Amino acid sequence: MSVLVYVEQVEGKFKKSVFEAVSYAKAIADQLSTTLSAISIGSVEEAELNALGKYGASAVLSVTAAELKNFVNQAYASVIAEAAEKENASVVVLSNSFSGKGLAPRVAVKLKAGLADGAIELPDLQGGTFRVKKTAFSGKAFAVTELTSAIKVIALNPNAFGLKENPVELSISSFSPALKATDLTAIVKEIVRATDKVSLPDAEVVVSAGRGLKGPENWGMIEELAGLLGAATACSKPVSDADWRPHAEHVGQTGITISPNLYIAIGISGAIQHLAGVSSSKVIVVINKDPEAPFFKVADYGIVGDAFEVVPQLIEALKAHKA
Ligand code: FAD
Repeated sequence: MSVLVYVEQVEGKFKKSVFEAVSYAKAIADQLSTTLSAISIGSVEEAELNALGKYGASAVLSVTAAELKNFVNQAYASVIAEAAEKENASVVVLSNSFSGKGLAPRVAVKLKAGLADGAIELPDLQGGTFRVKKTAFSGKAFAVTELTSAIKVIALNPNAFGLKENPVELSISSFSPALKATDLTAIVKEIVRATDKVSLPDAEVVVSAGRGLKGPENWGMIEELAGLLGAATACSKPVSDADWRPHAEHVGQTGITISPNLYIAIGISGAIQHLAGVSSSKVIVVINKDPEAPFFKVADYGIVGDAFEVVPQLIEALKAHKA
């Protein structure tokens, strides 16, 4: 019996959410008095893989097959399931990231495992049970799911557990999964970015704006602020519905769900459907001229003020800081 964690790489690097998933998986391994292995798919430098040991992974299976260089849901799920079988894993942990959301249910089906997605706490093992607290109804409620299957799959919400250093000695071995032809009916040959802007699902910092901006012509200051912070840009649904911004930037219940370290919401009211997609951000900063705007209730920092006055001042302050 062991615990396995999937460590998702983006262009050969691990994001903070990966180290968080490793920290969480290590804590489960400790609860079960067992060891933690990681499965990495795609080309990742050894130094990056070694960093997993700092958070408690004692072994890494590294898959570097050329056809798996880029993320493909079906094939990656098969590799993770095969690694789980090889490691005799009773618990498989993934980050509930953009790709983790697609992978976790597939991995669970392949392993005939129970799934808890959107987990926010360590499992409660009292009385021989395995109960996982998770978010429900777009983050408006919690659910406690009891997993009774022999193998359990858990997808951890980013920013729910935090990073916990737990250095152990790490061994890296290469793993050649026995992929079936059906796993490779679609493979991603090449990724060509449409822009060189930071991609929204992967961004650590996001600057987002809503209808309070009045019109698409006012997004220059949002782009400038995002550029200074190395951030991706996002928007509320009405903004993309009105074609002020591309639909790919729409976050929320019906758009993309994101969990950046910093989410700056400008001229967005904070409707429940918007919060559903951003509430697991680590730090939320709200700029709104209405002190009663619902967004302030979930904000870590709030500025009551006119975006057209506050944002230019922020830009000037950042420029001065950078200089
Ligand atoms: P508004 O509600 O119009 O708010 C604008 C805000 O800007 C106000 O708080 C105002 O005080 C502030 N403001 C105005 N002028 C300024 C200024 N000069 N400076 C600073 N602040 C200013 N919405 C989403 O975003 N994502 C979703 O995925 C989503 N899915 C939905 C699904 C369903 C089924 C439904 C029914 C709705 C959904 N919505 C979604 C819409 C959601 O309910 C809200 O209508 C929407 O989020 C409001 O967008 P907004 O905050 O940009 O606009």
